[in-house]
Amino acid sequence: MKVYVIGIGLIGGSLARDFKKHLDDVTIFGADLNEKNLDKALELGIIDEKAELKDVAQADCVIVSVPVDVSAVLLEQVLDTIKGDTLVFDVGSTKHAICEKVKNHVNRRNFLAAHPIAGTEFSGPEAALEGLFEGKTNIICEVEKTAFKLQERALELFKKIGMRIRYMDPVAHDKHIAYVSHLSHISSFMLGKTVIEKEQNERDIFDLAGSGFESTVRLAKSSPAMWTPIFKQNKQFVLESLKEYIDNLSNFKTLLESDCYQEVFEEMENTNRIKEILNGISIKK
Ligand code: NAP
Repeated sequence: MKVYVIGIGLIGGSLARDFKKHLDDVTIFGADLNEKNLDKALELGIIDEKAELKDVAQADCVIVSVPVDVSAVLLEQVLDTIKGDTLVFDVGSTKHAICEKVKNHVNRRNFLAAHPIAGTEFSGPEAALEGLFEGKTNIICEVEKTAFKLQERALELFKKIGMRIRYMDPVAHDKHIAYVSHLSHISSFMLGKTVIEKEQNERDIFDLAGSGFESTVRLAKSSPAMWTPIFKQNKQFVLESLKEYIDNLSNFKTLLESDCYQEVFEEMENTNRIKEILNGISIKK
């Protein structure tokens, strides 16, 4: 099977590594605007050969793994170029804009809209990890718009790399992911910003940073080139989630200002429920 990965970074590279590990007779071709990333992917054995966009005419499977604003444009070009039985899927962190973009394409039935809920704060082919998707969820949107044979082929591939499947409507996906992923990134970026600004005046502050700070601010290392288009495409739901978060922060501030320590205690105690919720999720997994 000839697999073409467009955007050979963290997610594209990790998929390439897992496909190589779990599939027999697979050749991975990499296409990327960034020539250094392509060379690195070749050197690390993530891809077998370099390719260009036009080469997807020979592909059995095309994975589009570039920033979400680029995916919306590239997908049309890929769908224009492929042969009749090629499976094309994306991995973008937003789904509505991408599904809208391709909805009237003559080859829409070759496309499957996917979002693997797996990743790290790092980018590029050096960040690609074997086994990244094992036991993780892959959200698939508008599955009924993909040709049945290609759905089957995609599900088989996802199963081989250990993914569980969840089906969702693209708008519901974008709404839910705004809370559990996009808001967490903004919160981490702004926490990092607040502490960096303070550190400029008080140089010792990072000597005091413990593992709590490090884990809370981990997502602030993420790539702005990847996240700006995500926030742009999911602006409405991100703004909704931000408003609710800011209301909660303001409320907490008011409670402290008013010396309402019983309410401060209760706010935190109620939120401790997150332990059971997250445990429940990992048990279900
Ligand atoms: P990444 O590590 O930065 O990889 C993206 C690659 O695409 C980079 O090599 C980038 O080059 C390249 N690229 C950018 N524009 C391009 C273009 N026009 N044509 C060809 N290649 C281009 O990013 P990633 O984290 O793998 O994210 C890729 C996709 O996965 C995004 O849609 C993201 O929403 C989705 N996703 C990410 C995560 C996560 O945790 N990171 C999780 C799930 C899904 P440069 O380095 O020069 O920009």
